[in-house]
Amino acid sequence: MTKFEELGLSEELLKGVRELGFDEAFPIQEAVIPVLLTGRDVVGQAHTGSGKTAAFALSMLQEIQPKKGIQGLIMAPTRELAMQITDEIKKFGKHARIRVATVYGGQGMGLQLDALERGVEIVVATPGRLIDHLKRGSIELRDVTHIVLDEADTMLDMGFIDDIQFILDLAPEDRVMSLFSATMPTEILRLSEEYLKNPKQFLLDADDLSGEGIDQSYLVIKDRDKFKYLIDFVKPIKGQSIVFCSTKYRTRDVAKFLHQEKFNAVAIEGDMSQHRREQSMGKFRSGKADILVATDVASRGIDVPRVELVINYDVPNQELAYFHRIGRTARAGAKGQAITFVSYSSVGDWNLIKRQIKVPLKDLNQEMGIEISIPDPLKRQTPSRRYGGQSRSNYSRGGYGRTDRGRDSRDDRGGRKRYADKGSRNSYGGRSRW
Ligand code: ADP
Ligand code: MG
Repeated sequence: MTKFEELGLSEELLKGVRELGFDEAFPIQEAVIPVLLTGRDVVGQAHTGSGKTAAFALSMLQEIQPKKGIQGLIMAPTRELAMQITDEIKKFGKHARIRVATVYGGQGMGLQLDALERGVEIVVATPGRLIDHLKRGSIELRDVTHIVLDEADTMLDMGFIDDIQFILDLAPEDRVMSLFSATMPTEILRLSEEYLKNPKQFLLDADDLSGEGIDQSYLVIKDRDKFKYLIDFVKPIKGQSIVFCSTKYRTRDVAKFLHQEKFNAVAIEGDMSQHRREQSMGKFRSGKADILVATDVASRGIDVPRVELVINYDVPNQELAYFHRIGRTARAGAKGQAITFVSYSSVGDWNLIKRQIKVPLKDLNQEMGIEISIPDPLKRQTPSRRYGGQSRSNYSRGGYGRTDRGRDSRDDRGGRKRYADKGSRNSYGGRSRW
């Protein structure tokens, strides 16, 4: 383990890091920070909760000068993640006189324009709203020297790639760029070569996505029995829990049921107003709510250290989403628990995910003596067609993250007609799936 002092960071930043109580650098930080500081592009893969934010944020803060324009640009797939990254940067940079603005859909332009007018050195953005600012001239990228794509595999996925291309075309060629994610499929690594110059790759846990420190189990039950079991599992939890559902509708329903049962639950899904989204996240982060019921909008990047349990109320329909969802627990070396509810019709999808899990997985049907009364043919169900048969590639089925493609939202699409014309594959035309 390396001390932060050995990584080439300024005293101002080290002070910020110490105040956060960080003692030693985590492996991805130790690996990446010195390389980014030499000005080389980086691909950084390390498991969920392993400190990737600090790896790119500290390197960026170190290189950026006060009052010299927007030099750092970080892009993330969801508003909540963009806000979280901003908060972290502010903590690290508390003594460094670097100003940060968050640019995301759903919030009025006014607040963002005010912040930008006062002057900032770093912008953390979701792509859609960033493009709006670029088009109206309220953000210019000519001084940008450092670019990060967090959750990079999502950012280079079909839902976002055109936006990213548009944005990168407006940034100077001479820049340090880095990509970070817990999941870095080979297709993304290949694609990254188009955007990065001779990047140094750090693939720290590429062979094992399974989630260190997460006790994983699953339960095959009838869909209508899920709620009863949900109550049983969340009741004894002393910390916080996240319940992931497959649709916005189910998310609202499950949250409603939990309220009826007097649980302190909040919900987040893409059809809620930004105000309500922020209210939910605020309550959950501050510990005022015990349970967050969410669509995949909360599956990537969200860091709430007290989360002890993740329940997949529905099997995710995008297999990498499983690893991101369960990675909302066991943050920063802590322990956590993940339980997946598998309805009879999802057994095939679950089997596909299960094959990728390389740690012991508890079969709760066996453990709790719960019989599965699936008619035989279903038990032997082969992978469903939408997973492209035997192919393990998300890309080969024509759209990685098809179901968890996170358009920033339908309400921040203003002024992007050019993109809207690109049709349905770029879900501008429709509502967000999250
Ligand atoms: P990732 O992006 O890899 O999923 P995050 O950057 O969100 O992970 O970090 C997960 C948690 O670990 C955060 O709460 C962060 O504050 C904490 N953390 C990061 N680096 C360190 C460190 N060196 N020591 C202690 N805690 C850390
Ligand atoms: Mg992260």
